[in-house]
Amino acid sequence: GATLGVMGGGQLGRMFVHAAQRMGYFTAVLDPDENSPAGRVSHHHVRADYLDELGLAQLSGHAEAITTEFENVPAGAMARLAEHRPVAPGAKAVAIAQDRTEEKAHFTRCGVRCAPYAAITSEEDIARAGDDLLPGILKTSRLGYDGKGQARVATRAELRAAWQNLGRTDCVLEKMLPLAFECSVVVARGRDGAMVHLPVQRNLHRNGILAVTEVHEQCIAPAQAQQAVAATRAIAQGLDYVGVLCVEFFGLEDGSLVVNEMAPRPHNSGHWSIEGADVSQFELQVRTLAGLPLVQPRQHSPAIMLNLLGDLWFREAGRELTPDWAGVLALPGTHLHLYGKLSARPGRKMGHLTVTGPSLEAVRATALQAAQCLGIDPF
Ligand code: ATP
Ligand code: MG
Ligand code: MG
Repeated sequence: GATLGVMGGGQLGRMFVHAAQRMGYFTAVLDPDENSPAGRVSHHHVRADYLDELGLAQLSGHAEAITTEFENVPAGAMARLAEHRPVAPGAKAVAIAQDRTEEKAHFTRCGVRCAPYAAITSEEDIARAGDDLLPGILKTSRLGYDGKGQARVATRAELRAAWQNLGRTDCVLEKMLPLAFECSVVVARGRDGAMVHLPVQRNLHRNGILAVTEVHEQCIAPAQAQQAVAATRAIAQGLDYVGVLCVEFFGLEDGSLVVNEMAPRPHNSGHWSIEGADVSQFELQVRTLAGLPLVQPRQHSPAIMLNLLGDLWFREAGRELTPDWAGVLALPGTHLHLYGKLSARPGRKMGHLTVTGPSLEAVRATALQAAQCLGIDPF
């Protein structure tokens, strides 16, 4: 059988490996951590850093085609692999997604509106930034995730202090927008340019971290859903993208939609598709990488996904407790995913729970019961 490779051994890589193995592929994972969630379930685990020449050579020795689950893989490593093997998505698309300034320029080129912003790379930029951008959010251009590398600033003095705190690294200042809701779209694009997508996902964030995703007919107005899908397709097309791409949007109080950011890989908000759709985002990733046909996934059940963060293990001061999985699994239509991470930390993504059922009412009721059982209040 053929072997598919993935850069990065986190939970996204683990779910890619599961999908690939189900379809008869062998897998190879590159990750320095010997206990990485994906490395531990893969046929091959190359324990090396992303810039380690020997590690890259080993990966391309094992794998016929290579993808990524980690959005900050150095572009040089991807280009290096691409000399020997097909790599999807391509290094150029990943490089754009790694940098908020370039990402926003790409959105604008594709005719998709984003929040008003300014690049902040010097004291002069701070002095020059328009008053209309305050209050705003200062975000590092690179390496931020789960709301890390961000600061909310109300005044120019706060902006200056926040930039110092972030280490005077390249940043963007975004205007703080009045959000009515957030949503995302997962698209898959093949080498031949064919595109399919998952239905629009409505996302609820807590403290900058995704807490809940809901996907059902009532989660977003049809006109806005169409707009989000069209924008996502345009963004993928404009990158000449191959693979799975997720684009996040803000729905504003005035009814308009603006793009937030993109991830060049499957996304936490698409995890529901494993049980809620007939083709998951990870199967789409396998199909695009292996050059298999893409078919439009069909959602066969309303779905609600709850993220399971490390905080669940620390609900009582002074002692670590295991959440009541049996209680959750006693409810109908619950699908528990634990990523096999060895230690829980507050804010760390340890797993997720997807609830599916015959109706939105049933799924809502079960999701509420599951949350109560776990002692969380995600809604
Ligand atoms: P991810 O883990 O999704 O990659 P991230 O660290 O890259 O997250 P963003 O998606 O940029 O961060 O922002 C995190 C959250 O902060 C958003 O989902 C949204 O709730 C809020 N947020 C970000 N930018 C703005 C904005 N301009 N106006 C209002 N809220 C915002
Ligand atoms: Mg991000
Ligand atoms: Mg985000």
